[in-house]
Amino acid sequence: MTHHDHRIAEEARLVEGLVVAEGKSYSNWGGHRSTRPAVYVEPIRYADVQAVVRDVARFPTPVNPAGSLLSVAPAFVNDGGTLVCMRKLDEILGVETDARGRTVVRVQAGCRLKKLNMWLQARRLEIPFQAEIGEATVGSVAVGDTKESSLDAPGYFSAHVVEITYVDEAGALRVISDHADGSAFQEFKCSFGLSGIVVECLVETRPATLCRSDVSIIVYETPAQLSEDLLARRGRCDALLAIVFLDRLACVYDERFQAGPGSVTPESSQPQCEAFRAAKRLAIQRGFDGVEVPQPKGLVYSRADFVNEYWRPERSEKRLDFQYYEHDVSQLARVVEETYAFTGDFARETGFAPNGWAAYFVRRPRAELKPFGLYSGGPGVSFSFDPISSDPDEPRWREFSRRYNELAIRTFGARVSPIQTQWLKKGDVAIPRRLARPRFTTAYFAEFLE
Ligand SMILES: Cc1cc2nc3c(=O)[nH]c(=O)nc-3n(C[C@H](O)[C@H](O)[C@H](O)COP(=O)(O)OP(=O)(O)OC[C@H]3O[C@@H](n4cnc5c(N)ncnc54)[C@H](O)[C@@H]3O)c2cc1C
Repeated sequence: MTHHDHRIAEEARLVEGLVVAEGKSYSNWGGHRSTRPAVYVEPIRYADVQAVVRDVARFPTPVNPAGSLLSVAPAFVNDGGTLVCMRKLDEILGVETDARGRTVVRVQAGCRLKKLNMWLQARRLEIPFQAEIGEATVGSVAVGDTKESSLDAPGYFSAHVVEITYVDEAGALRVISDHADGSAFQEFKCSFGLSGIVVECLVETRPATLCRSDVSIIVYETPAQLSEDLLARRGRCDALLAIVFLDRLACVYDERFQAGPGSVTPESSQPQCEAFRAAKRLAIQRGFDGVEVPQPKGLVYSRADFVNEYWRPERSEKRLDFQYYEHDVSQLARVVEETYAFTGDFARETGFAPNGWAAYFVRRPRAELKPFGLYSGGPGVSFSFDPISSDPDEPRWREFSRRYNELAIRTFGARVSPIQTQWLKKGDVAIPRRLARPRFTTAYFAEFLE
């Protein structure tokens, strides 16, 4: 080895940024999942991510990327391995036109969705996926599972990602895109970081639009009436979010309508808009425990404003926890009615019922655009029916979730997510083995490889 070769090898080994090898523990947002990696790293350059992947002795396998550690499921659990937290690689590098003539934003993997939404809003652009959660990072949602009721768009983030720069298992920096790599790219977006660590994405944008919302609370006499009205309301608006309170047979509806171009919430919508946003944010933070939500009508606003930031709660605080289940919309009445019966039986037995159920609607694309996991059933509409709790540590909630997994997955045929559905067992979810590189595959994800 020449002196020059030696220097390059030394530089490739050097990791700038935080490296903690003191066996510390790291927890998720709700505090109910934690992991003790051998090494925790916060890279500040792509070269750091590459050096970490290459240095097997200093950074033990598996190497698993994470962003904000919001996942409710143990997706980031990596005891004895290397936890690579991407939060400091969070620059937004600019708007450009890609090879297909699309207006795209170039953004680093650790960028949080709120920051990205505000940056785009200031430039009168948007990504149609504008979920409640502002803390999730771009890298996680580019290759993982998301849901929201989007206006004139599918309703999951990765649908808008058209190019990804990642570090592969050999530590090389690679670029993969829809126009150059076709199905390999679509598969990569279903890989949960098992195919490579995302460092940068190109995400398709469109001119910013405004939304009009009618919010209401309706009480029903039977679950059949509830599901019938839920479907009817979805048909009447452009996008519907519903929070269902099964024990009271009540629904909070946010019926969304397209309201034309615009990037700023009009003054005429204030102070109602801000009051609604703050109440909704607090309700989600607290897992819908004891928070009153106002019912504004005809509220016109920028949805970017409703992408929210949540404080990291203490373990003693009420805080959101949930389970995610995807069903075809044709199953809605059955799912609501049988879930109502199941929840009633469970409440009579244990005294526990979830605080509410979130219903989102997602438009599924052609199967080749979403080959695996959620929304991979080919064209159609999916809805989620997700139980919500305000205490992830409550043993009865955990028992409820385990038993409901059986009903939802086995009986209803629901699709579930390894990062958004807890207590999954082998066979509940399948990730193709060929997407997973040994360097990146944790014991948790290994169980789901088929
Ligand atoms: C209060 C709250 C509200 C929420 N609201 C919503 C909502 O409205 N809609 C919704 O869809 N979800 C929601 N979620 C769930 C959350 O958005 C997802 O779990 C999201 O993936 C979390 O992003 P993160 O950056 O925290 O990921 P992390 O938990 O840090 O990582 C999750 C997994 O993503 C992968 N990953 C992370 N970074 C990378 C990378 N750079 N390259 C490759 N793989 C990577 C890894 O497999 C990792 O294990 C909510 C969660 C909470 C706690």
